[in-house]
Amino acid sequence: MRRALGAALLAFPLFAAAADYAGPIFDAHLHYNEEAWNGSAGPHPVPDVVARMKRNGVHAIVANSRPNDGTKNLASAAEVKQAGITVVPFVRLYRNRADYDNWFRDETIHQMVLTELSRGTASGAFRGLGEFHLYDSANADGPVARKLMALAEEKDLVVLAHVDDVAIDKLMAHTASKGQKARVIWAHTGIGGVPVARVDQLFARYPLLMGELSYRPGLTCEGGKLCPEWRQLLTKYATRFLLGSDTWVNQRWQYYDDTMKGYRVWLGDLPADMARRIAWDNGANLFGLKTP
Ligand SMILES: [Zn+2]
Repeated sequence: MRRALGAALLAFPLFAAAADYAGPIFDAHLHYNEEAWNGSAGPHPVPDVVARMKRNGVHAIVANSRPNDGTKNLASAAEVKQAGITVVPFVRLYRNRADYDNWFRDETIHQMVLTELSRGTASGAFRGLGEFHLYDSANADGPVARKLMALAEEKDLVVLAHVDDVAIDKLMAHTASKGQKARVIWAHTGIGGVPVARVDQLFARYPLLMGELSYRPGLTCEGGKLCPEWRQLLTKYATRFLLGSDTWVNQRWQYYDDTMKGYRVWLGDLPADMARRIAWDNGANLFGLKTP
């Protein structure tokens, strides 16, 4: 009897795990950098990355790359179109790695952004700026950072910013609406692990601020499920969060399946409509995409 019960428990755990989220995913933080695709050394040509998106139910992506050619390649690729994947192109501020530490004061970056915006891509106009990084939040006050934030709000472009909480306030201050109309995706929602209460405060202060959840410390707990305070925050702001793969190095492409699988695990623990919002609807609504 005891043995039979044990076997039954093994087959049917006492607390049945919720099924993983099985719906569509909007990957709101994707890079297709040069080293992924360029030349014979590029291990992830377009068909490879499309196959990864496809088998993971990724139907739309925010594409950006260093330099911007990777994004343009995705935007014009027949494979992407055939797979039914929507490319939402962003202008990356980096031509090379040196630009990471200097873009916020480099007028040639401002000019490059204007040129790219005027050109657009085969998938249509650029819809946003970024991802950009600010390792020191004081640089959010740099002359080019100021100009680009004002430009983004004026042109209704979405900004993808890898910054700390202090820089969020600074960047928002550079827009005409003081952040009330600025469409900003906070990459990683504070990669340094800023407290949930502070995230909450910023979300309350800036009505269009959204949080992308890759690499967010403290998001998941045992078994890859959401930690309680994050479950609470995601519930409070269910229309404000997004998923991202952040394929900033080739290794992230290698583990693309695992990243998406990880998201599906904790999404499965949320009410179905909320999971769907975070996985797909919020991104689709932000850019006016149709449901797959
Ligand atoms: Zn990134």
